Amino acid sequence: MTSARINAPTEYSADCFVCGRIALADAGQNPEFVARLRTGYVFLNGGRQEYRGYTLFSSTRCVPELHSLNSTWQTAFLREMAAVGHSVFQAFEPAKLNYALLGNGVPHLHWHIIPRYADDPNPQRTIWEGPSPVAIPTVAMGSLRDALLRELERTVRDAIEATYKDLRPGLAVKRADSNADSNP
Ligand SMILES: [Zn+2]
Repeated sequence: MTSARINAPTEYSADCFVCGRIALADAGQNPEFVARLRTGYVFLNGGRQEYRGYTLFSSTRCVPELHSLNSTWQTAFLREMAAVGHSVFQAFEPAKLNYALLGNGVPHLHWHIIPRYADDPNPQRTIWEGPSPVAIPTVAMGSLRDALLRELERTVRDAIEATYKDLRPGLAVKRADSNADSNP
């Protein structure tokens, strides 16, 4: 059971893929990075943008299970995850959102938040079943990121203020550096 406080700095674990992505984000070197919230990092999943707006919300704590977090942190993490999902929905207007917390391959809590659209090729199944993903060239992350960030700045702040009144002065969303985006 963790005793770490909300807003504690991220602790990277060696040889963890998700920690590696977070470290790159902190260094300003991850073009998929969107924002850091109190309990997690928001990334676009660059390899699966055939589901436009496919987002990952990765815990700042490198732990494998929800019950590895204490109750305060657990509530914060889940509340923020829901707010990120709301932002994805508002930004990309899918027909449905899918949420998945797996971690079989990488045991560091990270949510997959997956927009599903009306023209989905396999709407009754998860994206990991059925047809293989269609490989697409490098996605222009900038416009997707900007759309998501606009919603995050509104939705997440509202969620934080509703949930953590005792932690005010509130959320400072750390914006991704738009100048770091080299995509067209
Ligand atoms: Zn990790």
